[in-house]
Amino acid sequence: MHLASDSWRTGERGDVKANVVIVEDDPLVAAHVGRGVEAHDGLSLVATTGTLAGARGLLDRKVDLFILDLGLPDGSGIELIEEIRARGGLEPKILVLSVLGDQDTVLAAVLAGADGYLLKDIDSLDIGQQAADALTGGAPLSPSIAAYVLRHLRRQR
Ligand code: CA
Repeated sequence: MHLASDSWRTGERGDVKANVVIVEDDPLVAAHVGRGVEAHDGLSLVATTGTLAGARGLLDRKVDLFILDLGLPDGSGIELIEEIRARGGLEPKILVLSVLGDQDTVLAAVLAGADGYLLKDIDSLDIGQQAADALTGGAPLSPSIAAYVLRHLRRQR
C-alpha cells in the first residue's frame, strides 16, 4: 500500500513533491495561493478548481493536500471534507482557507476532518509554509481560530 505520507517523506529527499489541489472559486485568491504553492520546493500544484463538482472529479487522483475554500458556488467545502473522510484509505490532508470565521463553521469544518483552518488574510499568509506544515503533521490555525477552538474546549468541561 502506497500511503500519501510515504510519498511526502520521499519528497523531502527531493524526488517527489507533494501533490496539491486548490479548490477556490475566487480567481484572484486561487492565483495567489497557486503562486505560493509553486514557490515552495516540496509542493507541486496539480490542479485548481472552483467548484465542489470539480474537486469531486479529482478524488481518484493521488492528492496529498487539498487547500479548500468553504463558500463554493455549488455548495460548502465542508461537504467535500466529509466525503473525503468517508472514503478512508489514502487520506489527503485538508487545509481550509476561508473568509468564514464564525464559530459554527469553524467547528463544523474541524469536526468533519479539516487538518487546519486559515482565514483569508491573503497579504500576510505564507500559504506554501502553512501547506508544508499541514503535510508534516501540523495543524495550521489562524490565531483567532485557535482562540475559538480553545474557548470551545473549555466550555466542554
Ligand atoms: Ca468562495
